[in-house]
Amino acid sequence: MFVCTGYAAESATVPLAPFSFERRDPGADDVRIDIVYCGVCHSDLHTARSEWGPSLYPCVPGHEIVGRVSAVGANVTRFREGDLAGVGCMVDSCRGCATCKLGLEQYCEQGFIGTYGGKERGGYTFGGYSKAIVVDQHFVLKLPANLELAAVAPLLCAGITTYSPLKHWGAGPGKRVGIIGLGGLGHMALKFAHAFGAETALFTTSPGKEADARRLGADEVVLSKDKGAMGAHANSFDLVIDCVAAEHDINAYLRLLKRDGTLVQVGAPEKPLPVNVFSLIANRRAFAGSLIGGIAETQEMLDFCGEHGIVCDVEMIRMDEINTAYERMLKSDVKYRFVIDMETLQPA
Ligand code: NAP
Ligand code: ZN
Ligand code: ZN
Repeated sequence: MFVCTGYAAESATVPLAPFSFERRDPGADDVRIDIVYCGVCHSDLHTARSEWGPSLYPCVPGHEIVGRVSAVGANVTRFREGDLAGVGCMVDSCRGCATCKLGLEQYCEQGFIGTYGGKERGGYTFGGYSKAIVVDQHFVLKLPANLELAAVAPLLCAGITTYSPLKHWGAGPGKRVGIIGLGGLGHMALKFAHAFGAETALFTTSPGKEADARRLGADEVVLSKDKGAMGAHANSFDLVIDCVAAEHDINAYLRLLKRDGTLVQVGAPEKPLPVNVFSLIANRRAFAGSLIGGIAETQEMLDFCGEHGIVCDVEMIRMDEINTAYERMLKSDVKYRFVIDMETLQPA
């Protein structure tokens, strides 16, 4: 075991603060990564504050992890000391069920082990708001060397969470795709939908984000509070990806779908979203969900980003600015992902 420094929430109602804990030394199949940057996902905030039900405390969030390999176990063949490496939302799964064998570890029939707050080896996991992490090589990703490392970090969650449903539901040329909410997930959804050749529209509550949205790949920007504009876009989208972290009227967005269109929920607000069935039965619409992506698809997404020069738009923060960053995220004031520089994390 070794002592690791991090930042943790001790309960749902206190700010995050410095915290020391123990991690295992790398076993035969493990990779130890010294963390250089970690992205800040809205899921970190939901979990730190027990918004999805009681979390395990102390909670060290962070699942957009990039860094350098500092040790490998005897069986590790894909990584060497000094390599760049990434870890996303999962650190293990059963690997034996039919779903895992299809490379869909995020839907493992036994439940995957989350990078933080996941039950593992008699304890539970601590995430990437920390100096180092030890992970089985199967769940460690190779990073494109040509991209800026800090801007790669959020691909490990925001990237794959939007790439996967856009691929699954066939976003591409001739398809009209709507993205709701320009935050961490939403800005990557825009970039990918645009890169796949779809005609892309952003639905936003923030009038000030229009120019950025166009730069990020939106062909159109619609203010969702403008009922007239929403009505003018009714029945016209093949696919809508909902990236909103807070309560909102889902029916207003379901009405955007044309016949047989699908609205995919990736945003995970604390409270249920009431669906008016008439929003669905009109036009035979579907309301679906999607959870991150499997390891193979995450690697595919990273390689795609390397080939196409796609990265996240990031704002760097110090570790001790995390609580302010959470408050700004709640005000939709993030352009478009906070990333923590782990150099700024001092020993507790
Ligand atoms: P974020 O950066 O905070 O972005 C959320 C965006 O939602 C805001 O920037 C804002 O965009 C919009 N928004 C906020 N309040 C709204 C409201 N009341 N009505 C309509 N729009 C509103 O969050 P994120 O990190 O992208 O995460 C988004 C959600 O996805 C979170 O719930 C997170 O837990 C979840 N998530 C799910 C998965 C998955 O696997 N399914 C993975 C990662 C994250 P505008 O200013 O443009 O309106
Ligand atoms: Zn996330
Ligand atoms: Zn499984």
